[in-house]
Amino acid sequence: MPQLARRMSRAKPSAIMAVAEKAKRLKSEGRDIISFSIGVPNFLPGEHVYAAAREALAKDSGQYGSNRGSDALLDAFLAHIGKIGLTGYARVNCATGIGAKHVIYNLAEALLDEGDTIAFPVPYWTSYMDIAEIVNAKVELLPCPASQDYKMTPAQLDAALAKKPKVFLFNNPSNPTGMVYTRDEIVALADVLVKYPDTWIISDDIYNRMLFDGLEYVNFVQVHPELRDRVIFIDSLSKTYGMPGWRVGFMAGPESVAKAVTTMNSNHITNIPEIVTAAAIAALTGPQDVPTQKNAEFQAKRDQVMAVMDAIPGVVCPRPQGAFYVFPDISCAFGKSHNGTKIADDVDFCNALLEAKGVACVPGSAFGEPRALRISYTCPTPQLAPGLARIQEFFAELA
Ligand code: PMP
Repeated sequence: MPQLARRMSRAKPSAIMAVAEKAKRLKSEGRDIISFSIGVPNFLPGEHVYAAAREALAKDSGQYGSNRGSDALLDAFLAHIGKIGLTGYARVNCATGIGAKHVIYNLAEALLDEGDTIAFPVPYWTSYMDIAEIVNAKVELLPCPASQDYKMTPAQLDAALAKKPKVFLFNNPSNPTGMVYTRDEIVALADVLVKYPDTWIISDDIYNRMLFDGLEYVNFVQVHPELRDRVIFIDSLSKTYGMPGWRVGFMAGPESVAKAVTTMNSNHITNIPEIVTAAAIAALTGPQDVPTQKNAEFQAKRDQVMAVMDAIPGVVCPRPQGAFYVFPDISCAFGKSHNGTKIADDVDFCNALLEAKGVACVPGSAFGEPRALRISYTCPTPQLAPGLARIQEFFAELA
């Protein structure tokens, strides 16, 4: 039999999906499962989004579309990012993709030759590592444990950039930690970035509308406009608008990079379908009450999760201010047992929690931080308190 390409020995399916699949299987076997595993927003977009899709269906041209994204979609995106202070971009600075994941994958292909280095902080979103491995990039990790609130310091960034990586990949607000950098912190990091003109900066900010406690969103370009020709801003409809399955992602950045992503599109996806494009425009330009209301709900849920995390002795849990994740350091449980089941690490912990209490969380090792686990709190509200109570019970039963 012929062999698969060597790159497939480096490619692996998403670890997060594996937990979600196991939870689904147990549920189908009749177990009472509460899932805090997958990072889906769990709400639907407003009716105007569906109306736009239906209307587009009625007059669908059935033709191929623009590789970059339709002009109307790019204009809607430009207006959207203008509202968070990212101004001065034109259509030529933008490109779309089948979700932000696809845009990031395209960027990895477009910016990294085999053996080039990509640097990013730990904990990281799983796909960063998986994509880096597929394109055979070297990875330079910047460890940011709970003791530093899962945030990178300017000194750490300086040390990493001094090694001249081709790409620095940043994520704010963060999946898996939910942490958000303040304006002062962004300024301090940007002060470092300006010193290293040979490094591209991908700023994956897809949770930029999901901020709590009145916190403002700040991007490197706003505080250091000279970074504009190296920063690639990433956005998505998936989380903000409850549209993960519609698959729409965006980038705004240097013209040459947007062109490269467009060229990549022309060689695989060709275009975002017309009906999806219409829905995306409606989401970006229509009433914003659904995302606004959901964000308020997520903030209240964050409070609920944190009240429980703060009450569990030994757990260290930096307080998130965005997205819909909490990332407690649960290493206090390592070396203990639950009903005779030994817990040596995060994977044992998550397995035992799922088996004993029917609560699914993702082990932190999926994000490069094996001392923690990720709780995604987008489940229906009535499930949140019982799920958290089960986690608390589980800890209390450790011996
Ligand atoms: N970046 C981050 C940080 C994410 O959490 C996700 C989704 N989990 C993505 C990118 C990809 O989003 P999309 O659905 O737009 O592909």
